[in-house]
Amino acid sequence: MLKKDEVSKLRAKLTPEQQDVCVNKGTEMPFTGEYVSNHDEGVYRCVVCGAELFDSKTKFESGTGWPSFWEPAKKENVKDKDDYSYDMHRVEAECAQCGSHLGHVFDDGPQPTGMRYCINSVSLKFEKR
Ligand code: FE
Repeated sequence: MLKKDEVSKLRAKLTPEQQDVCVNKGTEMPFTGEYVSNHDEGVYRCVVCGAELFDSKTKFESGTGWPSFWEPAKKENVKDKDDYSYDMHRVEAECAQCGSHLGHVFDDGPQPTGMRYCINSVSLKFEKR
């Protein structure tokens, strides 16, 4: 976990779109994100701090319009958090290292985990293998 002032410095460099999602927990419009249809092999890192979050090996076509993964690349890098906004209970996914909002987690994903990490492209930075 990064220190508060380190996170503030990183967040100061974000674009307004990145701020909206990563800091203010907004959601990008479906089918607009850079990585929705990305099928290249590689690693998806946190756009704020660079932590390794997801691997292309676990990316699948969910049809939702957001990049979807059935498992984090490193379990300890993605934190699940209860979210009670909009009068419903959802599970929020955030970067464990810097606290950046990533998206939400649902239990209707494919095997082997049955999980669906529904992630905003804006919160990710893809690194091709
Ligand atoms: Fe991060």
